[in-house]
Amino acid sequence: MISELRVNQRNKEKPDPKGKYVLYRLQIHRRFQWNHALEYAVNRANEHDKPLLIYEGLRCDYPWASDRFHRFIMESMQELQEEAAGRVQYIPFIEYEPGEEPAFYETLASEAVEVISDEYPVFIMREQNNRTAKECGVRYTTVDANGIIPLEATEKAAYNAYFFRKIVQRTFPDFYRAAPDNDPLSNLGNRESLDLPDKIRDGAERSRNDLEDISKCISRLPIDHEVEPVASPGTRKAAIEEFEDFIEHRLDRYHEEANQPDNSAASNMSPWLHFGKISPFEITRRVFEQQPGKWSLDDLVDQNGSRGSYFSDDPNIESYLDEVITWREVGFHFAWHEEEIDTFESLPDWVRETLNEHRSDTRPYVYTLEEFEQAETHDEIWNAAQRQLRREGVIHNYLRMLWGKKILEWTPDPETALAYMIELNNKYAVDGRDPNSYSGIFWCLGRFDRPWPERKIYGKVRYMSSDSTRKKCRLSGYLQRYDSLSQ
Ligand SMILES: Cc1cc2nc3c(=O)[nH]c(=O)nc-3n(C[C@H](O)[C@H](O)[C@H](O)COP(=O)(O)OP(=O)(O)OC[C@H]3O[C@@H](n4cnc5c(N)ncnc54)[C@H](O)[C@@H]3O)c2cc1C
Repeated sequence: MISELRVNQRNKEKPDPKGKYVLYRLQIHRRFQWNHALEYAVNRANEHDKPLLIYEGLRCDYPWASDRFHRFIMESMQELQEEAAGRVQYIPFIEYEPGEEPAFYETLASEAVEVISDEYPVFIMREQNNRTAKECGVRYTTVDANGIIPLEATEKAAYNAYFFRKIVQRTFPDFYRAAPDNDPLSNLGNRESLDLPDKIRDGAERSRNDLEDISKCISRLPIDHEVEPVASPGTRKAAIEEFEDFIEHRLDRYHEEANQPDNSAASNMSPWLHFGKISPFEITRRVFEQQPGKWSLDDLVDQNGSRGSYFSDDPNIESYLDEVITWREVGFHFAWHEEEIDTFESLPDWVRETLNEHRSDTRPYVYTLEEFEQAETHDEIWNAAQRQLRREGVIHNYLRMLWGKKILEWTPDPETALAYMIELNNKYAVDGRDPNSYSGIFWCLGRFDRPWPERKIYGKVRYMSSDSTRKKCRLSGYLQRYDSLSQ
């Protein structure tokens, strides 16, 4: 049973019984497994006794569109196309000019009984869902498959992780029990093949050809070709392989060593989580399988928001699930409840007050966006983190915090710091343009945190330094690896 909290009927239109299919417009949850939205779409197709058509469009005009993100998405499309064969009709569409994709989608929607899509609280999907709900001639429903705690289960944006952790600990067992189906397509009833209009058939055919030679296709698109693809493929296969490697070799030292840049024990899941290739439910389930001893969900005891032993007495499991559930989802819930998440004004009162008081403090260094982008600061740790971001599309988590804190310190004012962080993170990070992009960046300026002893520039916002990072972290391999900009 899919919780009603996950289902958002966006308009008052009725389903059209004359429609040829139920349309699932895939926007973010790029997987056929563990996906509440796909499960809901299959249920609706069965209810109408109509075939299901899964559509995924790739526009070329979204902010920060580049070879890096296009390749990641197209590799995923290739994989979904293979997985769909013989099971469901999957239509990919790759846009060559702005406007092509919306027109293609509208033609598809005009023949649908109803349309189901993914809920997502930020980036182009948020605006796209709001607009489509008004324009769609049939019922348009978005389904929240983002996390374990449904977005509608909270009433307001959490101001810190402790507040949200309290909600997690109160509600987790029930929401976790309502996991999505592992293989919703196996329940699909009507598998008739569809007779689609020429325009759709031709467009899909062109895109299928494009997927055969991704590099050639990408080179012709009006997107940023300077942000190059990363080595990790955008496939579910790659996500699962990496995750299994984490379970086998890194989970048992996560608590102590996730924050060590050399030989880090982090899971590296964020790019695939961001692109919806893997579900937090399956991650959590697999991690629970590593619980020592006999164990059941009924053993979880609400700790009233304290961390340490809610999910497990094993500190590795506890810390990892606290990141995947509390820290990941607090950002989603924040973005769901707050329209404005990316401005200085959206920061808590105490943060704005203290940063305003320190606006005119002299900055020891001030860099331009270009200097930051090219990793041309005086600080070798910062430069190494920026090079990792440019080259690999990720930054090690601990250094990502330092990276953001120093941008605050080395720009003329907090608004400039935020603008630079958003630009660099979303342009280069594979996991960027995510609710957690904004929670991570704004955490550097105090969101979800508490006041600390006052100091220059930062005021009461938590300070971090490269010197203390050097003392706390094993870094020599990391620094060597990212010592030059060459690829
Ligand atoms: C300045 C800055 C920018 C950030 N930008 C992003 C971003 O664009 N996209 C993004 O997904 N995360 C972002 N983060 C949060 C965090 O850095 C990454 O989620 C984490 O480094 C991903 O690595 P991992 O998958 O190996 O994490 P692991 O430590 O293995 O954790 C597993 C998962 O838990 C979640 N998680 C872990 N740490 C955090 C955290 N601090 N906040 C929220 N969720 C967390 C992620 O989904 C992550 O994949 C940012 C943090 C900072 C300080």
